[in-house]
Amino acid sequence: MPINKPRGMALRLSTSDHAHSSDDNAMSDTGSLAVGGFNIGRHGITQSPLSVGEISSLRLDQLHLGHKLGRGNSSRVYLASHLPTGKPVAIKILQPSSDSSTAESVRLALNEVRTVFQARSDHLVSFYDAFHHEGSLHLVLEYMDAGSLENLFSTMVRANEMIPEAAVGQLLWQMLQGLIYLHREKRAVHRDLKPANVLLNASGFVKLSDFGISRSLDETQALAATYCGTAQYMAPERLSESGVYGYPSDVWSLGLITLEGLVGRYPYARSSNHFDLVNSVVNGPPPTEDADVRRVLSPDLWDLLNTALAKAPHERPDATQMARHSFMQRLHAMPFDLAVFIRRSVDLQQQQSSEPLSLEM
Ligand code: ADP
Repeated sequence: MPINKPRGMALRLSTSDHAHSSDDNAMSDTGSLAVGGFNIGRHGITQSPLSVGEISSLRLDQLHLGHKLGRGNSSRVYLASHLPTGKPVAIKILQPSSDSSTAESVRLALNEVRTVFQARSDHLVSFYDAFHHEGSLHLVLEYMDAGSLENLFSTMVRANEMIPEAAVGQLLWQMLQGLIYLHREKRAVHRDLKPANVLLNASGFVKLSDFGISRSLDETQALAATYCGTAQYMAPERLSESGVYGYPSDVWSLGLITLEGLVGRYPYARSSNHFDLVNSVVNGPPPTEDADVRRVLSPDLWDLLNTALAKAPHERPDATQMARHSFMQRLHAMPFDLAVFIRRSVDLQQQQSSEPLSLEM
């Protein structure tokens, strides 16, 4: 099965703002979008408030749209081919909407642009450029050819297979690297960590995506009132009335995602009622206290996740402390090839699905 490997792809990002032609710089009256120091036009980002000042050499007319990869809260995501190089990219198109959420959606997407524009981490999905086209915002992103952790989890459940501890450990390790970068370098809270926002590729890389609602910490409270994401992976403090949340809330989400991978199901009792779920998370015991959970997990891994899922945010370790936990020492001594495991799960998913996940352009 041929698998595209987006790592090292030649979608060059120029380090000079001379990369754009004078034509590109004269976009202001042709439908470009100027928000928060950014100017995003038909030809991509022509002005950015960010100090690195990198401007892509991509052009929208050089991208050939392929099939839909997924659908998010506010967007559709497509596979596309960059015609000059034949390399795959993902295009996230912010859906135009006639209602009042449009301005908020654009604001969130621009925030994604801000956060990812300067990101330099192997564990965050790379961002190539943004375009304003036919009234919607197009974000051009690194294509992750093995889908999301949500896909992987459901594939393994359907195959009736547990995910090995070494695989979950490596997933956790890589997610932590992304989180450490976000928290320490970008001073940003992800806010919407869930299996659908953790993307994988066939080379064995695990990357956090969907920074649509991440924001630097000092602005946290301003957004808390306006955004309502998926409750399932949200920390108790975020779901409770106080609504106060920060870096430890991301640690909770990562702990819950990891626990789900290990036990093969969402760790709380599934409820169709939003209020029951919120009540269990806010008022119930942490999911690590479940006797079945204790039985499945090795003691050191249980200890790590038990602290990450402490109800009180100040009792949780930060992402760096988690990466230094004794479980990680043991993990690094385990021989396990995550890339092989991920590729096998994609094969399994293809077998299971009548609509195969295409890994080809
Ligand atoms: P939203 O921010 O609107 O919620 P997401 O960014 O979560 O949208 O994307 C929705 C889905 O699209 C993801 O769960 C994933 O399946 C797919 N997807 C998103 N980005 C990529 C990418 N870079 N490569 C491959 N698939 C992607």
